[in-house]
Amino acid sequence: MFEVTREFEFCFGHRLWNYKGKCHNLHGHNGKACVTLRGDKLNQLGMIIDFVEMKRIIATWIDSTIDHTLLLFKDDPLVKTLQENGEKVLPLDVNPTTENIAKLIYDFCVEKGLPVEKVTMWETTYSYATYFGGETPSIVVEE
Ligand SMILES: [Zn+2]
Repeated sequence: MFEVTREFEFCFGHRLWNYKGKCHNLHGHNGKACVTLRGDKLNQLGMIIDFVEMKRIIATWIDSTIDHTLLLFKDDPLVKTLQENGEKVLPLDVNPTTENIAKLIYDFCVEKGLPVEKVTMWETTYSYATYFGGETPSIVVEE
């Protein structure tokens, strides 16, 4: 079995919904996502996938969708206010935690047919979360 991993760096803003603590305030991060693809067969060039191709697909999407974007829970009242003022906002069905951003990137890779094994999302130098796919328990955000 082979694995290839590529790192993607980007900036994003968010705030945690229904959270008691300083992360409820709007703030930003220089984030990094490490995307790992897996395969037991290599192509004729001896690759799972060309890193150039991985960059083309994933970095292009991250640049247009997450980079310099505010990630907010869809019911956050700031979504409407910020959109009305021309700000770049990505409303999510879930709280914009590091875990859920990792899953967002993982799900994009699946949608593109990439053999993704896991996505590790670094929010700070010391804090990161990894999503491996599979069943995840649904978490209800209470009002
Ligand atoms: Zn944060």
